[in-house]
Amino acid sequence: MSQRPSFPARMVTGAAKPGVQGRPAATVHGTVLPKAHVQLSGQDTTAIRARMVQKLAEQGISDAQVLGAMRSIERHRFVDSALMNQAYEDTSLPIGLGQTISKPNVVARMMELMLGAQKDAQGKLGRVLEIGTGCGYQAALLSEVAREVYSIERLRGLHDKARENLRTLRVANLHLLFGDGMVGYAKGAPYAAIIAAAGGEAIPQAWIDQLAPGGRIVAPMVTTAGKQALVVIDKTPQGLKQSVLEAVHFVPLKSGTA
Ligand code: SAH
Repeated sequence: MSQRPSFPARMVTGAAKPGVQGRPAATVHGTVLPKAHVQLSGQDTTAIRARMVQKLAEQGISDAQVLGAMRSIERHRFVDSALMNQAYEDTSLPIGLGQTISKPNVVARMMELMLGAQKDAQGKLGRVLEIGTGCGYQAALLSEVAREVYSIERLRGLHDKARENLRTLRVANLHLLFGDGMVGYAKGAPYAAIIAAAGGEAIPQAWIDQLAPGGRIVAPMVTTAGKQALVVIDKTPQGLKQSVLEAVHFVPLKSGTA
């Protein structure tokens, strides 16, 4: 999700070559190119992911559920073939239509914060709403740590792409929705947690309304300093409690669909 000023030259070769108006040809109208499994296949990726998880732990991620999900979900399935060999580096990657998938460390950090929400009697997180499905990577991770996941995307091309990426995983507790996440998704409410992959000027009221008591919102937001930071909002019996954490660089939260 963070906008990187420049990408390696190889990004603009092959499948990820930008089409007209800088749109990556690979994702226009949701077309998904066949994925090459030349360099990353079979057991190789298990070891690569184990190393990624080891690194995340060294960077301070300690939640076993988060680390377990990061170990099992194959990140390389969610990026275009030209970028596959970068899938396990701690870097954000373009996913088409000008959007990006956050680096593993940021994804893990946000999930760990999200798991600070109130859990059910079995110690499991209930329903989660994700704003910004993108390629579907985080949605797949969320479905491992929560009972039910609703993930909403405003760009049709990415919604379709996520559906394609997730098809073979057959995740029964994940619901992909096409629509404007700024209004949340009332039908699935109340949510134990709402997690956003795009940042606006404020947290939409709909998210607060659709949050369960004891629930938590984790989202990037532009703060008074004019910079984007990670914000955590808890719905407590005493009212809303907001914490502003570290600076982040997410794509903008936009209204409407396209
Ligand atoms: N979690 C995603 C990250 C995608 S980047 C992943 O794992 O790939 C953020 C996404 O938020 C983009 O795809 C962007 O189109 C989407 N987005 C921005 N504003 C939105 C809104 N109002 N509703 C739904 N999605 C939105």
